[in-house]
Amino acid sequence: MPGTPTADADVVVVGAGVAGLTAARRLAAAGSDVLVVEARDRVGGRTLSVPVPGADPDDPTAVLDLGAGWVGPTQDRVLALAAELGLATFGTYDEGANLSEHRGRMLRYSGTIPRLGPLMLADIGQAQARLDRMARQVPVEAPWTAQHAAAWERQTLESWARRNLRTRGGRDVLQLAAEAIWAAQMSELSLLHALFYIRAAGGFEALTGVRGGAQQDRIAGGTQAIALAAAAALPRPPLLSFPVAEVAWTPDGVTVGAADGRAVTARRAVFALAPHLLAPVRFSPGLPALRHQLHQRMPPGTVVKCHVVYRTPFWRDAGLTGQVTSPVGPVKVTFDASPPGGSPGVLLGFLEGRQARRLGPLSPERRRQEVLDCLARYLGPAARDATGYVERSWAADPYAGGCYAGYFGPGGWTEYGPALRPPIGPLHFAGTETATRWMGYLDGGVRSGEAAAVAVRASLGEAQPAV
Ligand SMILES: Cc1cc2nc3c(=O)[nH]c(=O)nc-3n(C[C@H](O)[C@H](O)[C@H](O)COP(=O)(O)OP(=O)(O)OC[C@H]3O[C@@H](n4cnc5c(N)ncnc54)[C@H](O)[C@@H]3O)c2cc1C
Repeated sequence: MPGTPTADADVVVVGAGVAGLTAARRLAAAGSDVLVVEARDRVGGRTLSVPVPGADPDDPTAVLDLGAGWVGPTQDRVLALAAELGLATFGTYDEGANLSEHRGRMLRYSGTIPRLGPLMLADIGQAQARLDRMARQVPVEAPWTAQHAAAWERQTLESWARRNLRTRGGRDVLQLAAEAIWAAQMSELSLLHALFYIRAAGGFEALTGVRGGAQQDRIAGGTQAIALAAAAALPRPPLLSFPVAEVAWTPDGVTVGAADGRAVTARRAVFALAPHLLAPVRFSPGLPALRHQLHQRMPPGTVVKCHVVYRTPFWRDAGLTGQVTSPVGPVKVTFDASPPGGSPGVLLGFLEGRQARRLGPLSPERRRQEVLDCLARYLGPAARDATGYVERSWAADPYAGGCYAGYFGPGGWTEYGPALRPPIGPLHFAGTETATRWMGYLDGGVRSGEAAAVAVRASLGEAQPAV
């Protein structure tokens, strides 16, 4: 049982990521007394912005986003929140040609799909069109009710790709996209989950694109600035270093306790974190079996986000965007992540899925070497002249356990999906994993926080938060 309450509130929010802070912001605006508790010693969750090594320390925009990095069109709720908090956006550097590694050669191309030859292009095009068409049949509120849900849940994205893509190159491109979108192998994802996710984003291109897609813009000062500003504006500051370990609840109230004996009591709780992070938390009375098992059925992907700093963004001089894709890797996707002024140059490389698991156990020095060797293969020897290297492994982070977000394998949505969003007594659930639009993204997190605030106020019979 949690210790004796050391604080109370109308609503306690567990987790100070964008979801929890949005819920708290909305509840406070509506007049609720709300208190956020957060396991880490900082707010922001899966956002973390740090200074670029060697950059002008007075330049507030010279930051590396070690967690979420981009926002894009139709991500209206996170964009609105950023604007409310006085944060500006700027475009991802996207001038010039992209590179793609194909059979040992680097091909230059523009747009999202490399010029790999007519057969492969047609193959990828038809696969993407089919995925989009099937995704439009998935109701985002209840994916398990889709007409073909049972058939789509029996397959992984990989088994679908094996049957529906004729070329090896086409399957490689889809695998690469899966790693970039879910930080997982196609074989780990249920087809229904992939289709739900595509629908929730508004289409496959919206997920993979820069201009017009999820990678279009960045937040000046970094994405963590959203959480920092939102937390600073709350009437009560979040309680940090408060990892909730125990929850006692009745139909009318809830007490959440940390291992050090601190506890907060409230009429309602909002758990604004990925479902798998609730697996070690002890609930008394215990949660219904489906909800309990859900916590073990929605694992996150594996990602190490690597930033390499250079005196200048040298690839721009060669007419390149800095965007490279390769089916070989280990860094399979890169982007220009330089500050808005372009100095210093920053190249961002992702180790995702299997590559992150393969290189994760190496020493940081070995991993850095593997990353630099790979970038030199793509961009030439200048890629070895790094002045700084900053990486973050989100799978090694106990309060993330992986990234970008929890996903379902085969059977997940149909068996456990119905337990994902509904409250249980005074316990409400938010976090990007519960979102129906842009699930897995900052925007989904914000939307889930807004929805939780509305549900909590309704359950208390109180007026809705002002929009
Ligand atoms: C490397 C990386 C790149 C990404 N790129 C993008 C991107 O470009 N664009 C985009 O939109 N999204 C991106 N994402 C995803 C995005 O970061 C998340 O969707 C979003 O931050 C989720 O917000 P949230 O509030 O739902 O969860 P979180 O940010 O995870 O917040 C949950 C909070 O709960 C806390 N917590 C955990 N356990 C406990 C406990 N027991 N007690 C108390 N507190 C606890 C955590 O510390 C955390 O602060 C990326 C993520 C990563 C890691």
